[in-house]
Amino acid sequence: MQTTNDIRRSFLDYFAAQGHEIVPSSPLIPYNDPTLMFINAGMVPFKNIFTGAEKSPYSTATSSQKCVRAGGKHNDLDNVGYTARHHTFFEMLGNFSFGDYFKEQAIHQAWDLITRNWGISPDRLTVTVYHDDDEAFDLWKKIAGLPDERIIRIATDDNFWSMGDTGPCGPCSEIFYDHGEHIPGGPPGSPDEDGDRFVEIWNLVFMQYDQRGEGDRVDLPKPSIDTGMGLERVAAVMQGVHDNYDIDLFKALIAESGSLTGTATTGDNQASHRVIADHLRASSFLVADGVLPSNEGRGYVLRRIMRRAMRHAHLLGAADPLMHRMVGSLTGEMGNAFPELIRAQPLIEETLLREETNFRQTLANGLKLLDAEIVDMGEGDVLPGATAFKLYDTYGFPYDLTEDALRAKSLGVDREGFDKAMAEQKAAARAAWKGSGDQASDTVWFDIAEREGSTEFTGYTSEEGEGVV
Ligand code: ATP
Ligand code: MG
Ligand code: MG
Ligand code: MG
Repeated sequence: MQTTNDIRRSFLDYFAAQGHEIVPSSPLIPYNDPTLMFINAGMVPFKNIFTGAEKSPYSTATSSQKCVRAGGKHNDLDNVGYTARHHTFFEMLGNFSFGDYFKEQAIHQAWDLITRNWGISPDRLTVTVYHDDDEAFDLWKKIAGLPDERIIRIATDDNFWSMGDTGPCGPCSEIFYDHGEHIPGGPPGSPDEDGDRFVEIWNLVFMQYDQRGEGDRVDLPKPSIDTGMGLERVAAVMQGVHDNYDIDLFKALIAESGSLTGTATTGDNQASHRVIADHLRASSFLVADGVLPSNEGRGYVLRRIMRRAMRHAHLLGAADPLMHRMVGSLTGEMGNAFPELIRAQPLIEETLLREETNFRQTLANGLKLLDAEIVDMGEGDVLPGATAFKLYDTYGFPYDLTEDALRAKSLGVDREGFDKAMAEQKAAARAAWKGSGDQASDTVWFDIAEREGSTEFTGYTSEEGEGVV
């Protein structure tokens, strides 16, 4: 079996052999974009090269980039534990051409790597193209020999990528693996495409235009390539499992939480173990890159991730803090590829222990209150926003933790009411504040970005709600 570590290596080696520079992953906190909370795609560190603002010493590159999608527009937090394919932290493998090769070579390499080098069966693969991208359609036919019905034309922004309102943009192709009829879900473009049967493994972006303003789009003199492949998703395919959480890496982490809590890892406990394993990775990598839990900005996203996992540890009956005891397993799995994890291990353990110790003091009481509030509620009912706010304010429950806790009982939370209570409290605090009026501007920014979706770089899609699921 090829381990996740083997597959990462094999990807980078393949592209290195084609002349690509192997570029190490950037830290999760973007150095070139103050408006972006965390790096959420492999191309982000190369953004200025694609726009021409920076010169690159190489014309092609490959990387395995650490990504977090747990806030702002790209938010997969709520999916974790409940879909087979989403993580808050994941690695995006990519190959990049900065005005070097274009569509034909990109498609050729992608197909060659996955079907010939890795031996993934072409019969299982379906691709999408942007509806008017006849060139890509014909190339897929020619290079991959795919029948017309497995080259699906998509007219939405799912298959048209742009960096922002202006700048490089172009159509993209997504490659899907069919995990088989026994799994619910339909092919891309069908009404039930969000199921886990057809899983998107790789996204090839063909940057061929420069958007100069509204309605003003010209061809780029030297088109570029940006691709992103989810390492954990392709590992699932190559290890013959349908679910990302069944790959070697996650099996090891989940076995650890199972043995430390003395609980079964299947059945009713499954989601809890998955959330713990996923959030342990995200938390550890964020701490290693310099984020610490706090009540604002990046630190609050980290705190939300940590506490969400800690509730699940409590749910499994963990009598003492659990998360810090799992860091050794994680460094065992990933420390070779990411030595920063080993360097930061003591800090990660200490941070997790302190956060879990603190949170456990209010967690049980908060959950008692929550249980009392919902005894009379039935399926589909909604917890009042004021209660969710009390849990937040008095017991340290991030909003999404409350939402996650109620999800298993098919209950919702009144978000508007929660926001209103929060706004009232902030107004009261502001009125009472007699200080200089100074306020950390990024706190305000992230506050707004969290609520409204920021104007940040949005990854491979541009429209809120479309494609970014
Ligand atoms: P999906 O539609 O499945 O949510 P996406 O279109 O949002 O994926 P992209 O932005 O195209 O994903 O990212 C490139 C690749 O990164 C995807 O093809 C997928 O393999 C992987 N990927 C994206 N989001 C996640 C995630 N939350 N967890 C694991 N892998 C992911
Ligand atoms: Mg995509
Ligand atoms: Mg997609
Ligand atoms: Mg998505």
